[in-house]
Amino acid sequence: MTKILQDKFGREHTYLRISLTERCNLRCSYCMPEEGVQLSPKSHIMTYEEVYDIAKTFVDNGVTKIRLTGGEPFVRKDIPVILEKLASLPVELSITSNAVIINRFIDVLKANQIKKINVSLDSLDKDKFTHITRRNQFDKVYNNILLLVKEGFTVKVNAVLMKDFNEDEIIDFIELTKDLPVSIRFIEFMPFDGNKWDLSKMVAYKEILEKVNQHFPKGTVERLQDAPNDTAKNYKIKGYRGSFAIISSVTNPFCDSCNRLRLTANGHLKNCLFSATESDLLTALRAKKPIEPIIQKAIQAKLKMRGGMDTLEKLQQPDLHLKNRSMITIGG
Ligand code: SAM
Repeated sequence: MTKILQDKFGREHTYLRISLTERCNLRCSYCMPEEGVQLSPKSHIMTYEEVYDIAKTFVDNGVTKIRLTGGEPFVRKDIPVILEKLASLPVELSITSNAVIINRFIDVLKANQIKKINVSLDSLDKDKFTHITRRNQFDKVYNNILLLVKEGFTVKVNAVLMKDFNEDEIIDFIELTKDLPVSIRFIEFMPFDGNKWDLSKMVAYKEILEKVNQHFPKGTVERLQDAPNDTAKNYKIKGYRGSFAIISSVTNPFCDSCNRLRLTANGHLKNCLFSATESDLLTALRAKKPIEPIIQKAIQAKLKMRGGMDTLEKLQQPDLHLKNRSMITIGG
C-alpha cells in the first residue's frame, strides 16, 4: 500500500481532527472576531454521511485517532448519529468541547465508547469567563467538568493563557488538580485571523514554569513522561490527583513529530493548523471523484514548520505572513 499519509519529511499522519461545525454557543475573543465570522452556507457543510466517508478514507490509509471539534461539536443536531457512525470505524474517537451542553450527551458518549473529552475553560473566575467567552455560562461548564469526571471520563481542561487576563490563575488551576483527577493544559495564545494576537499578550512556556517553580516547594513539581506525538509537556505536583501540561505551539513548536491533519466543517483538508492553503475534499467526494490523490498531494505539500511561519518574526507580522481562517472555522 502506498503510504499516502507520509510527508516528504517522513512524518506519518495518523491523527485526524474533524471540525463538525463552524457554529458555537460561546464567542471566545481569542478564537473569533467580535463581529463573528462569515459562516459557510449549510449546503457546503459536510453531512454526517460525508463526514463518515471522508473519515473512513483516512482510517483505511492509516489514521488511528480522530478528534471531533468545531465550532462546538454538540451544537450539531445530528451529533448522536455522527458518533455512532464514526464509532464503527477501527479508530480511537475523542472530542473537544466547551461542555456547555455536554450533560445531555453522557449516554450517547458512553454508548459509543468515547472516553476522552477535552474541555475549554480559560478562567475559574465567573466574571472573567463571561468577559472572554462573551456568554454567561461558567456554572454550566464547571459543573459539567465535575459531571464528566464523576461519570468516569478522562478529562483534560484547556486554558489559553493571556497576559493581564488569566496568567494570575495558573496556580489556582493547578490547585484544582489536588483533588480533581483532570489534566489542566495551559496553551500559548496563538495568532489566527481576527483574534488581535500579538506576542506581548502571550504567556510563554518558560514563564509558566517559572511561576509554578516559584510557588511550589522544591522537589514537588514532577516532569511526567509525555505520550508519543504529544503536543503537551506534562507535569504534576507530588501527591495531587491530577496533572498539568503546557502546550507551547508558539515558543517551542512540535512540528518535527507532527502527526496531525485537520478537516474543516466544509470538507477542506488543512495539512497544518497554520497552513495558508487548503484542499477541497468535499467537492471531489460529491463529484464521485477519488479523494486519495488530493489527500496525498496535500500531504506532500506540508511545510516543515508551522505552515511556513517558521520564525517568531514572521508570526509577529501576521498581516504579511498569516493567511489563515479564524480558529472557530478551522477546528482547534
Ligand atoms: N468548542 C470547542 C471548545 O471550546 O473546546 C472546540 C473548538 S475550540 C476552537 C478548540 C480549542 O482551540 C480550544 O481549546 C481553544 O482554547 C483553542 N483555541 C482557540 N483559539 C486559540 C488561540 N488563539 N490560541 C490557542 N488556542 C486556541
